[in-house]
Amino acid sequence: MSAEETPSEKDALEIIRIASDILNIGYVCDKCLGRTFSKLLHGMPNEEKGRSIRNFIALLLDSGVTINVKMENFQEYNFRRLDKLQSNKTVCFVCENIFSEIVPKLVKEAIKKAKRYEFETFLVGTVLNKALHEKDQMILKISPNYSESIKDEINRILGKSIVEKFGKSVNYIDPQLQILVNLKKLKVEIRSKNLYIYGGYKKLVRGIPQTTWYCKRCRGKGCKNCNWKGKMYRSSVQQIIEKPLIRMAKGKKSSFHGSGREDIDVRCLDYRPFVIEIVDPKIRNIDLYRAKTEINRSKYVQVSDLKFASKDDVISVKEAKNDKVYRAIVTFSKNLDKRELEKLSNINNVRILQKTPIRVLHRRADLLRERVVKRVEYRILSKRRLELIIECDAGTYVKEFIHGDEGRTKPSIAEILQNKVKKIILDVIEIKK
Ligand SMILES: [Zn+2]
Ligand SMILES: [Zn+2]
Repeated sequence: MSAEETPSEKDALEIIRIASDILNIGYVCDKCLGRTFSKLLHGMPNEEKGRSIRNFIALLLDSGVTINVKMENFQEYNFRRLDKLQSNKTVCFVCENIFSEIVPKLVKEAIKKAKRYEFETFLVGTVLNKALHEKDQMILKISPNYSESIKDEINRILGKSIVEKFGKSVNYIDPQLQILVNLKKLKVEIRSKNLYIYGGYKKLVRGIPQTTWYCKRCRGKGCKNCNWKGKMYRSSVQQIIEKPLIRMAKGKKSSFHGSGREDIDVRCLDYRPFVIEIVDPKIRNIDLYRAKTEINRSKYVQVSDLKFASKDDVISVKEAKNDKVYRAIVTFSKNLDKRELEKLSNINNVRILQKTPIRVLHRRADLLRERVVKRVEYRILSKRRLELIIECDAGTYVKEFIHGDEGRTKPSIAEILQNKVKKIILDVIEIKK
């Protein structure tokens, strides 16, 4: 190189340097050769760029310039100085010809699989296998300024085909459908964004949990422990609500997020907010009114109007702290004393301290929490039975506030009345919104 070399000559030499470096590693197809100059001549297909570069290098070679390249890259050229090459090796060192066979096949598979889904927005992605990834890195090193990666090229081909076939638009942030070409597994994987539905539920019976409890021993498959049902309870709020939704959305399963939960033996007679998440939905525009009607045929669960929601709603439902009003039918061990009962009327915004209840200690940390009981009303049902209306903070252990939990909740109704509690039948009657 001469000292007075101008920048433009340097750039020209850089292009020749890149081309010869690429063409010296083995046979490289037009697409891969062109991809190393992808960022130049915007809009021209890589194949055409590759063909032009190859022609140009062939011209130089035929004019007598010495360039180190593998001659299998110039099989079909008639050089005046050289014999025409006989070899027929045409497997590209870089892409292993995936663009002529595998990629079109996978694009076809992607279209076929995407057809099963109802979607408005999508995003494509590519996972390269180890060999392709390494070669991709090698090319990017040879041509760091102009090259595009194999991944980007596959994404572009796939994205274009999806747009042409379905007329949908790309969304980088929150696509409804993710279409992934996996070259490790040689298959297309589709991820459909979960469908979120918001509503409120009432639980009209005792004895079913909010979420489905799978048998711990068999994890839902069915065994002796669970009487071959896979589940520990005959039904659940989740099971009843998910049934029409999973069917209509053609989903796989659901996740259920309630704004708190009542115990299995407690009814919930006011609408408790929830978000149900349908996993892998094929259909997104489902008829929520029809789903509601179907759910409300159940004798166990009723739902309020359902509406489409988002992931953020899961957080707001989970974090909502709603005061609750409970009704409890309490049976005591001794006869009730009418004068003692008067003390209950004095419970007015009373702070109570609750250690984690004995019944949940096996799965929760032993903590001390403070809650406020806003008011307690009572009605005498019989000598030993009371109906109590208790309004309290979200997260109050109400049963423990009634029976005292062996002194772990203070004060408690049992303590105030100096009367042991034998039985509690509890309902949530109002969730303050
Ligand atoms: Zn190639
Ligand atoms: Zn089981």
